[in-house]
Amino acid sequence: MNKKILVVGGAGYIGAHMVRQLAIAGCDVVVLDSLPTGSRKLVQVGEFIQGSLGDPSLLDRLFAEHAFDAVMHFAAFSQVGESMHQPLAYYRNNLAETVALLDGMVRHDVKRFIFSSTAAVYGEPVATPITEDHSCAPTNPYGNTKLAVERMLADCDEAYGLKYTALRYFNAAGADESAEIGELHDPETHLIPIVLKAADGLIDHIQVFGTDYPTPDGTCIRDYVHVNDLAQAHMLALDALLEGGESSIYNLGSSNGYSVREVIAKAERVTGKKIPVVEAPRRPGDPAILVASSEKIQRELGWAPAYDNLEKIIQTAWNWHLKQKMNE
Ligand code: UDP
Repeated sequence: MNKKILVVGGAGYIGAHMVRQLAIAGCDVVVLDSLPTGSRKLVQVGEFIQGSLGDPSLLDRLFAEHAFDAVMHFAAFSQVGESMHQPLAYYRNNLAETVALLDGMVRHDVKRFIFSSTAAVYGEPVATPITEDHSCAPTNPYGNTKLAVERMLADCDEAYGLKYTALRYFNAAGADESAEIGELHDPETHLIPIVLKAADGLIDHIQVFGTDYPTPDGTCIRDYVHVNDLAQAHMLALDALLEGGESSIYNLGSSNGYSVREVIAKAERVTGKKIPVVEAPRRPGDPAILVASSEKIQRELGWAPAYDNLEKIIQTAWNWHLKQKMNE
């Protein structure tokens, strides 16, 4: 596929896996990232530009210089807990800067957009597994900002003919098989990398946030999907948009839910280590259960996730963890 793609937020965890897949597919990739959370070392292919998607003159320069076929947008803050304490940072970064990016696209007549949305747009589910027509009632500012962008995209389609795909990720996990790129947040807040740090003795224990949820073992249930399966779904969405497809919204999950305790047990099996657990209060903003139906994207775009069990996903995360440690 000889296409030119702007990947905003390509130095982040999911963006970096996307950049790698685009390059393997033969695309010409430009990464724009201001590195507030991403890491330069995760971008190993394509052209890298350090800058903000909220900078109109930089966008004008970029869009004038390159005839992009599409823009993929991964540049967002994504921590539920943090968003509860710093909502304005989330509205500024996730919403206002996306307005600037879309403005730039419209000015330069770039009309294809793929957006990283989230299961957090649904809020507390009334039916599980969640389908795309489930009601949207986010329980935290992070989900509110993502839903606001989805609504803005629908309005932009109506007004400017901007065609978009919004992909609602459930819990992205794992790392590329090469272990050259993987999850790298500072501070790390996501369950699987923290569990692996505890397995490796880098931290004393894992805190389990909430043990009184209405779930079989009292801990939250989430749907973990491998990061390369997410990237693969973007490739299919890109193809569909470039072939003249209409705007759409898809869930991306594995359709299997695992509780926090089950994740810890699987990580103990993969690593062969005992993982010390401390029970802690609920984390504000966390719904009890988030499990996707991804039937729509499988049916319409032929998405076929390669990683169909959590142990395989954790194994790739563990390989990445060990390689990181070796390189330190
Ligand atoms: N979680 C936990 N301890 C941690 C980190 C996360 O118990 O140190 C729980 C969290 O409350 C949620 C699940 O693990 O129920 C997944 O959290 P994560 O932050 O990985 O992803 P999120 O679901 O917020 O996108």
